[in-house]
Amino acid sequence: MTEPPHRIDTLVAHADRGLDADMAVAPPIWQTAPFRAESAEAFAAMASTPRHHAYYTRDGNPTFTRVEHVVATLEGAEAALLTASGMGAISAAVLTLVGQGDHVVAQQSHYMGTSQLLSTMLPRFGASVTLVPQADAGAFATALRPNTKLIIVESPSNPLMALTDLAAVATLARARGVTTLCDDTIATPVNQAPLRLGIDLVVHSATKFLGGHHDLTAGIVAGPAALIEAIWKTHVMLGAVPDPFAAWLLLRGLRTLTLRVRRQNETALEVATFLAAHPAVHAVHYPGLATHPQHALARDQMTGGFGGMMSFELRGLPAAQRFMDTMRLVSRAVSFGGFESLASHPAGMWFGSLGDSAAAEAGISPGLIRLAIGLEHPADLIADLARALGAAREAGTLG
Ligand SMILES: *Cc1c(COP(=O)(O)O)cnc(C)c1O
Repeated sequence: MTEPPHRIDTLVAHADRGLDADMAVAPPIWQTAPFRAESAEAFAAMASTPRHHAYYTRDGNPTFTRVEHVVATLEGAEAALLTASGMGAISAAVLTLVGQGDHVVAQQSHYMGTSQLLSTMLPRFGASVTLVPQADAGAFATALRPNTKLIIVESPSNPLMALTDLAAVATLARARGVTTLCDDTIATPVNQAPLRLGIDLVVHSATKFLGGHHDLTAGIVAGPAALIEAIWKTHVMLGAVPDPFAAWLLLRGLRTLTLRVRRQNETALEVATFLAAHPAVHAVHYPGLATHPQHALARDQMTGGFGGMMSFELRGLPAAQRFMDTMRLVSRAVSFGGFESLASHPAGMWFGSLGDSAAAEAGISPGLIRLAIGLEHPADLIADLARALGAAREAGTLG
């Protein structure tokens, strides 16, 4: 008799049951580089399939296996591969799937590291990339060429929380035999299930919500076992291998993923609603607001909630700088997904590297603030934001 499938809340606690031959309730950390073989025969067996035996930690490690198993289960994937960072996972996947003469379709708006990988690394191998506006599903179809091997999407994307219609892109790609990869870092498996919408591979910067405590960097890619095995072969050459302790911290963080993300969803909606009504704010970008241009798609696709990330626009650079300076509870820092709320000022980060006109084209205005919601009480967060917005409003009128 087969048991009914467990819900995601239960899976974060139990998905790695069965991998605990040691019988420890909390898993041990396998903090070792090599593993010993009992005999010549065992040594040969380990060396022949190093990923699936405890052999050498660049190839695999029992602590990694447990994390991979939990995340693969949450995503509904056959397999997953843990890497040292989100970029480690994205690089290994892209460099596995794309070769000389191949073509990639990607979004105009991607995580900066992904955009740089596509624009600087792929041309060195004679591969080309077409960038499309993510909100236009038809643009993905038009961009396809006979040599297109991969479509990369990210939804919601940073920093404007724009969405990609994942089911539409997946259907289109399947019909043309093109592999799809979705960066699901901002949504998390609690809110969105790209593989169930037909996407082939999902990647996460586990540094963010999956880890959840701002204390590790890691990445993961999940999907069909044969594809993950191929990506692993690239990964062991590139060598972006996590430390077993970071993997263990990630496993610990995953146990509370559903609790944290659901709380962050709720607080984010409350904060976004507050911001939208504030006179110092002239736009809020959050998929959970009815005013978001893709709110209907968000309701279809983000079935668990709308996430803990948003951005909003203040009137000009002095207002944004004053806001950043005046916050006390919310830290000025990059990254997101942890216990503590963080704000960043994209113009301060990106204008230098992108150039002013490219930044403006990407929709990054000088007054844009990105806000990552943590686990604080919403009333305390709103009080801190209200005070900083008051100061920003003054600076906005003066400036
Ligand atoms: C942070 C991030 C990455 C890169 O992850 P690292 O762990 O920093 O390498 C990739 N995609 C998105 C959406 C991110 O936010």
